[in-house]
Amino acid sequence: MKKEIILGYEVERKKIKNINLRIYPDRRIYISAPLNLHTDYIENFIRSKKGWIDEVQKRLDNLPKSTELQYVTGEKLSYLGRLYELEVNNGNENRIYFNNEKFIMIIKEDIHELKKKIVEKWYFEKAKVLFPKIMDKYLNLLGERTEHLSIKKMKTRWGSCNHRKKYINLNLELVKKPIPCIEYVVLHEIAHLRHPNHSRDFYHHIEKYMPDYRQREKLLKEYRIY
Ligand SMILES: [Zn+2]
Repeated sequence: MKKEIILGYEVERKKIKNINLRIYPDRRIYISAPLNLHTDYIENFIRSKKGWIDEVQKRLDNLPKSTELQYVTGEKLSYLGRLYELEVNNGNENRIYFNNEKFIMIIKEDIHELKKKIVEKWYFEKAKVLFPKIMDKYLNLLGERTEHLSIKKMKTRWGSCNHRKKYINLNLELVKKPIPCIEYVVLHEIAHLRHPNHSRDFYHHIEKYMPDYRQREKLLKEYRIY
């Protein structure tokens, strides 16, 4: 197999009869051509497809990213490990409420950023009530105390702990996960107050208070942070 660049595209020479051109969802282009086909011929082929390539790539660029919500009726929002349908209606206010069956959003203007903000604020309000409750439960259980709890969006971690300052951060995204997972993260961070590293003692300490912590950790790993 041999690769060359023709008109800025990577072309792979293979034992095939015809030229193949594929565009992948990530807009990558794959071209393969017969081993001895003249370069001029491949150039002409690519030129003849140029308009089509541009068109397909443009369409791909405009597609919503799979993880990004559009906030339209019928879409699903996660909350405490379950998915609930979203219903979007026009009205005289901007708000969202949850009736234990679905999310109902009322908006004055159909603006993506606005809808995103309404949903995130709702999640934040819920986290602000729930997370401290779980924290208190485990702080009492372990006989520990913290100076500060903050809830914020984090890209790569579910939580963090500054054991010297006794600060704990929890990822807002946790509010979308099942409560047993939130409890595990809370206990994990509280356990860091005593054991800053992920030592064997650290996990023994956790296990004392949560014998099924491995299952909860596994369940959490099935959810991606995005
Ligand atoms: Zn840790």
